[in-house]
Amino acid sequence: MTSELLDQPSLEVRRRIDARAAELFDAQRQAVYRRTDRMFAVLMIVQWMVGIGLAWWVSPHAWAGGDRWLHAHVWAAVFLGGAISSLPVWLAIFRPGSALTRYAIAVAQMLFSGLLIHLMGGRIEAHFHVFGSLAFLACYRDWKVLVPATLVVVIDHFVRGAFFPFSLYGVLGAPLWRTFEHAGWVLFEDVFLVIASLQSVREMKLLSLRQAEVETAHLYVESEVQRRTEELLAARAAAEQASRAKSEFLANMSHEIRTPMNGIIGMTDLLLDTELSKAQRDDLETVRDSARSLMTVIKDVLDFSKIEAGKLDLDSVPFSLERCVGDTMKSFALAAHKKGLELAYHVGTDVADGLTGDPGRLRQVLTNLIGNSLKFTDKGEIVLDVVLESASPEAVRLHFIVGDTGVGIPADKQQLIFEAFAQVDSSTTRKHAGTGLGLAITAQLVAMMKGKVHVESEPGQGSRFHFTAEFRRCEEGAYPSPGAEPRELSGLSVLVVDDNATNRRILEQMLSNWKMRPTVVADAAEAVAAMDRAAAANAPFSLVVLDSQMPEVDGFMLAERMNRDFDLNGVTIMMLTSADRQGDIERCRELGIQRYLTKPITQSHLFDSIQSALGMRRSREPDAAAAGADAKPRSERRPLRVLVAEDNVVNQKLVQRLLTKLGHSARVTANGAEALEARRSEPFDLILMDVQMPVLDGFEATAAIRAEERTTGRHIPIIALTAHAMKGDREACLAAGMDGYVTKPLEMERLQAALDEAALALPPRENVEERPAPADDASIKSESIPSSPAFDDELRAMIAALDDDEELFRELAETFLEACPGWIGDIRAALDAGDARGLDRSAHTLKGAVGNFGRGPAYEAARRLEEIGREDRLDESVAAWDELDRALSALIHKLESATEVSVS
Ligand code: ADP
Repeated sequence: MTSELLDQPSLEVRRRIDARAAELFDAQRQAVYRRTDRMFAVLMIVQWMVGIGLAWWVSPHAWAGGDRWLHAHVWAAVFLGGAISSLPVWLAIFRPGSALTRYAIAVAQMLFSGLLIHLMGGRIEAHFHVFGSLAFLACYRDWKVLVPATLVVVIDHFVRGAFFPFSLYGVLGAPLWRTFEHAGWVLFEDVFLVIASLQSVREMKLLSLRQAEVETAHLYVESEVQRRTEELLAARAAAEQASRAKSEFLANMSHEIRTPMNGIIGMTDLLLDTELSKAQRDDLETVRDSARSLMTVIKDVLDFSKIEAGKLDLDSVPFSLERCVGDTMKSFALAAHKKGLELAYHVGTDVADGLTGDPGRLRQVLTNLIGNSLKFTDKGEIVLDVVLESASPEAVRLHFIVGDTGVGIPADKQQLIFEAFAQVDSSTTRKHAGTGLGLAITAQLVAMMKGKVHVESEPGQGSRFHFTAEFRRCEEGAYPSPGAEPRELSGLSVLVVDDNATNRRILEQMLSNWKMRPTVVADAAEAVAAMDRAAAANAPFSLVVLDSQMPEVDGFMLAERMNRDFDLNGVTIMMLTSADRQGDIERCRELGIQRYLTKPITQSHLFDSIQSALGMRRSREPDAAAAGADAKPRSERRPLRVLVAEDNVVNQKLVQRLLTKLGHSARVTANGAEALEARRSEPFDLILMDVQMPVLDGFEATAAIRAEERTTGRHIPIIALTAHAMKGDREACLAAGMDGYVTKPLEMERLQAALDEAALALPPRENVEERPAPADDASIKSESIPSSPAFDDELRAMIAALDDDEELFRELAETFLEACPGWIGDIRAALDAGDARGLDRSAHTLKGAVGNFGRGPAYEAARRLEEIGREDRLDESVAAWDELDRALSALIHKLESATEVSVS
């Protein structure tokens, strides 16, 4: 750029360079003039003194006989020399550099030469002073100075040569040619001096030009550097601003996305807990699974951006390695089981269990790797090994290996897959979904844990992902141990502070589901008021759940205030966040907040977090309850003796059958009174209690059992069987002293989850009597009646809802068809008698039975009649009855076709 500028300068630049060159040249020439002026000033004073000395030396005295006086030469040297020298010396001192000074010096210098020649008596050597003076004058590098000087010499020679030849040549008479000869020599010297002066001026000009160019280039470079520096500073400021905006945007996006996702996932979880048809459940489960996959993608993208922006902090908390690894593995148990894969892990015996680090991120890394293995392995096994690589008194370095027997990765892709968005198969037709971010995030997280990740793989043989990570040791007891007992959550009072109404509703319902006592408020002021009230009543909250992002006073500020104003001894604080901002973890730690949860929050996630925040062990699998399935192998399950109180014959059959399939034994009673009797005469592990029953209903029976227990001190878990999905009914069950509930129609998975949960609270049984191993599904199915008539889609759906158990379906259908005329008779009788309560009861019974065959028109019609009875709107009953009649006939016809049994 610079050389371009100088090679082809624009006119303007050229003009500027020329002007500057002229300026430099003038300055330099002035400097030369002044310097030379100074030199002549000195020279003239010196040569004046020398002239006096010479005069004194050559002819000090003049003689006239005996008289002697000072020679006129001496006086001439003193006065004439002084007169010649004084003006130029004065000018040189006071007007240095001016043309007048130069010319005055030139004239004076040559006059002085003439004086010296005269004083020396015209000796030829004295003439050399002329040549020397001319050469000195050339120091001005101004040839014009030589003109007056030469003229003075020439005129002097002609005048003195003609009139005083002795003064000039030391002879009394001199020919004219001698004067010409002298003038000739002077001019001869002038020629060279003029040439030298002109040459010197040219060089000075050139030098000035070069200097001007260098200066211009320098200026240009400087201004360019300054311009670029300013540009860079502006760009840096813009980049910093953009990066701030990006982080801010990410935090906001995170909030904006997580808040509605929280609504979707939370509400779906809650909805899945209600009474649903098989189809509705399937649809909802699809909604929940899709929401979770979407959340995974969003989390990946947000995590990746955060790591890229260097905005991810690692937590540093004590944790149990065994628990972290175990929990991670368990969360894959079901998926591995479904694919028929062996899933195993092994932690070296020399690996310490208590570590300090970020268990959440370690889990994320393991989840990524094991999740990938699961995705890319169709048969064989997935094994995680944890070995000690090195240890110091403070820290340990662990080596994790996730090995699978899957498709493997070609050698040329093994490095690539750790890069963002890289996949071995990136075609749109690829078999497995994924963002290609998992391993990039894994690699970054591992690096943050001071470790490295790499893969060994052989296509077709499988892959082994290795990674290392460093953790500090932690003291024994400083972390929740995997063996700690789960703590009962029921009855614990919880304060929930969240500005978002949907979140409040979700949290309230979830906490109520676990029989906790939530107080739900929308802002800090209400929270403080609630804390005040609780403190005044001497019933402080055990747990405070705060939303971090709230207008005005946010969660952190509120936590700070609580720390300041209340005694938080024994109070656990949890923070819910949707933004996941940098530094939040640190702030939580400072404020003594035990748990930091990122939305969306699933039931199981919240449950686990509350358990661990309260220093407890998780008591159920993540998502197991929500997924409606349990990863626990059936053989590990403890067989239970179950007492069933259920008046509906169809339901009785169903419950009994389901319990048998699950490996439990059941005794069925038809109402609360019978159940009470049975319990007194026989030991049971658990009671399944229908709520609405004749004689003694579920609430009354439970109250009686709990009253009796007060004397025995033992507690039998009672699980309500309820057709009601309303929140109030659920609470009523729990308030009546029941421990759990299962909504009808009964499904095996849900029943199983409820039983497993209740079983956790059971004391270990002495002398467990060995029962024959429960028949598994296959053996039951193999008993199915062969050659079933062709079922249509509707019947197929009914059978599918019964876990595809055709035999059970037939049994239920037969029982239903047998009992149906009785129920219809009851309804008819109640209608004829205008008995609203009777109608409510009989229609409810029919509805419960019909519900086992799906929630079609017959169920709907029975439900309407029940409602009409309950609300005493008998005038609407005729239309409803007609509807029931029609729908029931169709259902009966359908069931008959399936069982080939007709209603008598
Ligand atoms: P994705 O979301 O696509 O799984 P990852 O970054 O987790 O993104 O993985 C990148 C790619 O690496 C995958 O698409 C897959 O091709 C390959 N890969 C990862 N793990 C395995 C594995 N255990 N077996 C075979 N291929 C794997």
